[in-house]
Amino acid sequence: MYDPDNIFAKILRGEIPCKKVYEDDHVLAFDDVNPQAPVHVLVIPKGAYVSLDDFAAKASDGEIAALFRAAGKIARDLGAAEKGYRILANTGADGGQEVPHFHIHIFAGRPLGRMVARPE
Ligand code: AMP
Repeated sequence: MYDPDNIFAKILRGEIPCKKVYEDDHVLAFDDVNPQAPVHVLVIPKGAYVSLDDFAAKASDGEIAALFRAAGKIARDLGAAEKGYRILANTGADGGQEVPHFHIHIFAGRPLGRMVARPE
């Protein structure tokens, strides 16, 4: 069940601020408040979807296309396409998802290391 009080829902309603990077009819993107790389942007659908699982099952083709086109455009416009970048969508408890509104992280601006850290 989607929680309308999650922090990204509040950002979408304008109840709390964000540093906006991109917006269109279906998508909002903004800087992560706790960046893990020189570029760390969150790309979110405007629709109320909990996770990638929810988004893939319920979003329209237009919403899905808009999100991925926006992510590619944002990375390119930020100058990340040439040297490379990483997108990430933490999903559910084992995925480490903290905010229950679907989002894609874009990381860039330094070599990003291993895809997944091994357990200690
Ligand atoms: P995840 O673990 O994939 O759910 O990531 C949630 C991300 O949201 C984390 O990287 C947080 O730093 C980020 N975050 C939490 N609150 C805010 C906020 N108000 N504005 C921007 N980013 C946020």
